[in-house]
Amino acid sequence: MKKTGLLILTFMLFLVFSACSGPDGNIGFEQDKDTLIVTSFYPMYIFTSNIADGIEGVRVVNMTEPQTGCLHDYQLVPADMKILEKADIFIINGAGMESFLEKVISQLPELTIIEAAKGMELLDDENGEKNPHVWVSISGAIQEVRNITDGLIAADPANETFYRKNSENYIKKLEALKQSMHDALKDIETRDIVTFHEAFPYFAHEFDLNIVSVIEREPGSEPSAGELAETIKAINEAQVKVLFTEPQYSPKAAESIAAQTGAKIYILDPVVTGPKDAESDSYERIMKENLEVLIEALK
Ligand SMILES: [Zn+2]
Repeated sequence: MKKTGLLILTFMLFLVFSACSGPDGNIGFEQDKDTLIVTSFYPMYIFTSNIADGIEGVRVVNMTEPQTGCLHDYQLVPADMKILEKADIFIINGAGMESFLEKVISQLPELTIIEAAKGMELLDDENGEKNPHVWVSISGAIQEVRNITDGLIAADPANETFYRKNSENYIKKLEALKQSMHDALKDIETRDIVTFHEAFPYFAHEFDLNIVSVIEREPGSEPSAGELAETIKAINEAQVKVLFTEPQYSPKAAESIAAQTGAKIYILDPVVTGPKDAESDSYERIMKENLEVLIEALK
């Protein structure tokens, strides 16, 4: 009898502790008291972490796993809905990036959703659709930070002062970054570039670069022989000497393309994926790395 009692007690303690563990299983989170902000993917997580930095009772958790890649065509997994059920606020890029949004709205109609790209002027991509990759330009990132800040203040007015102060500090850093990149890129000789996916038009627009061709291939999958041949043809036709691939794409394909075109391959990071607990300066750090790559490639 005594043993059974102990077992029951252990089991109940287990239940209590599992209930206390956070939505992703490893953070301390008090469901009723705290504000849980869930972000759809990496850049939204970095921006929001900066805006909500150090605010008591506010937690920011990223929904997608680090290896997700860009969010187009992303399909929700059961764990995503589970975390969204616990969320008070869901922060998305919007502009069509989260194709699963309707499903979230229909299943969780009460969830407060903040759209970072709200009201922003969007460029058309090659298929005539709106390009959602606004955060890849620094100006776009700053506007998204502003929109997220406004949304958070509206949803959680008690913390307005903190959100505002954090946001102003962060925007100052981003403005300084933008200025230093403009200075560094203004006298570059070659301005023609080829990229792998439609992530860079806003970046190119901001820094006066010319995207000659975009090679659309699925991140994380090896291109077929036919696709590879098409890519090689496109690069030769455009007579481009440098090609910018992304960390999410296969280096094997890039090497093969380089060998057959003579184009040199460099990596530009569109800040779509990164580690789960990214440092708050990740966006600036990645952009500074991109800047160095561009200067090296286009000199
Ligand atoms: Zn993308």
